[in-house]
Amino acid sequence: MKHAANHNKIQNILLGLGYPFDQFSIDHFVQHVQHHRNRQILCVPYPFSPGISGAWIYGSQVDFIVYRSNTHRIHQNHIILHEIAHMLLKHPLRPIKDILSPELFEELQMPMGHLRALEVNRAKDVVEQEAEHFVALVQKHVVRAQRLAELTAGGSSISALQPYVQGLPYNEHWDQAK
Ligand SMILES: [Zn+2]
Repeated sequence: MKHAANHNKIQNILLGLGYPFDQFSIDHFVQHVQHHRNRQILCVPYPFSPGISGAWIYGSQVDFIVYRSNTHRIHQNHIILHEIAHMLLKHPLRPIKDILSPELFEELQMPMGHLRALEVNRAKDVVEQEAEHFVALVQKHVVRAQRLAELTAGGSSISALQPYVQGLPYNEHWDQAK
């Protein structure tokens, strides 16, 4: 079955990180991935307009993860994990001009040059499903290691965030937000 094969690949990539989930925090995980890929990752908050929750931008020296600033911390962490999934799963990137406006990149103070990026709100794409599966696996490990609070760090109360924790169906959510 095609899906099972994809899921095995994703699981193997996660296991291949050798990440100690008993030490999980989002920053610690990002640092681990940086070391694993030998490339710096810069996480940049940005008040995206509705419809975009985040992007991975492949710079010449550094990977940028741009994530929505105006949402719960747990959602921001989900976006960061989702973009990391695209990196680790080696998903193809597209020319940045096809995705985000020049104004946005002026604001982000990034060179337009040869940057390529991948945005998150294409729920029906296989790459998006794969990235979401990766995030779900990470979350499972985080819960098992009793580090769930780290995914909500900086946010409001756990109960308010509960809808985000369960199932995290917000690929569809973002698709609806035109
Ligand atoms: Zn994505």
